Amino acid sequence: MNILIMGLPGAGKGTQAERIIDTYQIPHISTGDMFREAITQGTEMGKLAKSYMDDGNLVPDEVTNGIVKDRLAHQDVANGFLLDGFPRTIEQAYSLKEILESLNKKIDYVINIAVNPEILVDRLSGRFICKDCGATYHKLFNPPKVEGTCDRCGGHNFFQREDDKPESVKNRLEINIKQSAPILEYYRKQNLVSDIEGDQEIDQVFKEVKAVLDN
Ligand code: ADP
Ligand code: AMP
Repeated sequence: MNILIMGLPGAGKGTQAERIIDTYQIPHISTGDMFREAITQGTEMGKLAKSYMDDGNLVPDEVTNGIVKDRLAHQDVANGFLLDGFPRTIEQAYSLKEILESLNKKIDYVINIAVNPEILVDRLSGRFICKDCGATYHKLFNPPKVEGTCDRCGGHNFFQREDDKPESVKNRLEINIKQSAPILEYYRKQNLVSDIEGDQEIDQVFKEVKAVLDN
């Protein structure tokens, strides 16, 4: 099962991705996570990505397409994958088509988590993430069951994303609203898109995602 998860920053893609990969046992391929990993490792690519990410801008297509192409060539995607945060430009969508064709693969589902953009600043400003397993929490909307302990892996180290500060959030939202419309349109024409109401409780959103994927 090859899945794309789409939605504006803060819509809940990462939160739903955790549940999808645990349920369907497929790898989570998040371009944002890959860039953050490269930044942590201090690679040249990480330094380049950081110069765009800090201000909420998109990393250039040629860099992003390259990392996705390399990642999709790994053996662990044989039974499917969940792509999160890619494509983010229509050119990336075209590039993804070529990459998948070269691997004899195709997209089966595009899950679009739709939310009212007005709620996103609150979602992003309260977000924090487990350093050990990447699980996503929110100070008010989705705190860990035991304060300071990750529900998923038991870890105790959390971080907040640099780009969740209000200055870059505004720019990210503007860019993503503009760029995502033609991408959704492209996949709608192929009858691949399932729209899920993302303003609901996390468990209810997942119930609806699961209903689509189990169909
Ligand atoms: P994305 O990956 O789309 O940027 P996240 O999954 O990281 O979004 O979610 C952004 C923030 O909103 C996180 O703090 C998360 O805990 C919270 N969140 C996610 N889904 C919901 C929801 N349905 N209701 C309330 N808060 C949510
Ligand atoms: P995310 O973790 O998906 O919210 O992405 C965080 C940041 O990484 C984005 O604001 C971009 O700067 C960069 N990024 C992630 N995915 C892409 C992509 N597909 N194209 C360009 N930049 C990306």
